[in-house]
Amino acid sequence: MSRRSLHTPAPSPDRLRARIDRARQAAAAADTDALLIAPGSDLRYLIGQAGGSFERLSTLVVPAGDAPPALVVPALEAAGFGDVPFDDLGVELVTWVDGQDPYRIVADLAGRAGTVKQVAVSDSTIALHVLTLRGALPEVRQVLAGPIVRELRMRKDPAEIDALRRAAAAIDRVHARVPSLLAPGRTEAEVGADIAAAIVEEGHTEAEFIIVGSGPNGASPHHEMSDRVIETGDVVVVDIGGPIPEGYNSDCTRTYSVGEPAQADVRETYAVLEAAQQAAVRAVRPGVPASAVDAAAREPITAAGFGERFIHRTGHGIGLDVHEEPYMMAGNELALEPGMAFSVEPGIYHEGRWGARIEDIVVVTEDGVEPLNTRPHGLTVVEAT
Ligand code: ZN
Ligand code: ZN
Ligand code: ZN
Repeated sequence: MSRRSLHTPAPSPDRLRARIDRARQAAAAADTDALLIAPGSDLRYLIGQAGGSFERLSTLVVPAGDAPPALVVPALEAAGFGDVPFDDLGVELVTWVDGQDPYRIVADLAGRAGTVKQVAVSDSTIALHVLTLRGALPEVRQVLAGPIVRELRMRKDPAEIDALRRAAAAIDRVHARVPSLLAPGRTEAEVGADIAAAIVEEGHTEAEFIIVGSGPNGASPHHEMSDRVIETGDVVVVDIGGPIPEGYNSDCTRTYSVGEPAQADVRETYAVLEAAQQAAVRAVRPGVPASAVDAAAREPITAAGFGERFIHRTGHGIGLDVHEEPYMMAGNELALEPGMAFSVEPGIYHEGRWGARIEDIVVVTEDGVEPLNTRPHGLTVVEAT
């Protein structure tokens, strides 16, 4: 089955229209005359379809003023937007054919409501389009749309949180199956292939990423998988996720041991990690800065002498993208608000020997936190038979 044929449920036209209105207001508040939204998650957030980015320009033009938004697409790609309720959204569909100048079309649409001094382009816009557009709007300042759009996307509505909940439940069901897949003599890649199938079987549209880091490979946080043969006594980091049909992602890490861990320091170190992850989740509530969640995870790890071995931020926002705002890291003083969703995933990495990470997705509630992943956090010892 091709990905295009998958049913991709979109939010109701009312919800999408409200998002477009808020994007318009956010643009105005940022002294930006128009948002130029590229295909990808920003576009999906606003019109329910992500489209695709190619050398031919596709852009949603959202003027800050009263002029209607318009989706500019090559005529040959218009069919891909067949499910978008353009009339209900108040969005015009403007197609162009080879030989026309789509940058001129976008420039004219952006300027319909008056003089344009500043446009904001999606963070994911390819350089070809950014620079060619600059030629079509030589006097206009280009800024990133990310800081404008993230103000909307960072605060999830109840339907989005429900989608994240279902994604989390789906990946929890996959983790429940992982112990039956881990065995000495199997390679990381063999285990990963089975996990990929389970991810789809449990309700995702695809396996977006699979990390099976056994033994020394577990000490490399973004190791994917290899032909390394898993041995008795190995600690194995399994970090997996993907989108459900609504487009919202799961992302969950658990650490397993195939038989009792061979390395003598595993139990003690893992207990520190578990306490750190728990402390960071407990730190989450409205008003707390994102940096405080990072600090809460780092404190017990540093106190135990492993500070240098926790080599990444504590968490990232999640939604239509696996990694999005807000980021739980030092220096981010953003105050958490209800509806923000992100990972809490400290790790401790002993280079050349073993590593461990525990990751849950959590949502900020009115008065605290709701962890979405519910599998046990302890080191899961798999019988090595
Ligand atoms: Zn990552
Ligand atoms: Zn992860
Ligand atoms: Zn993550």
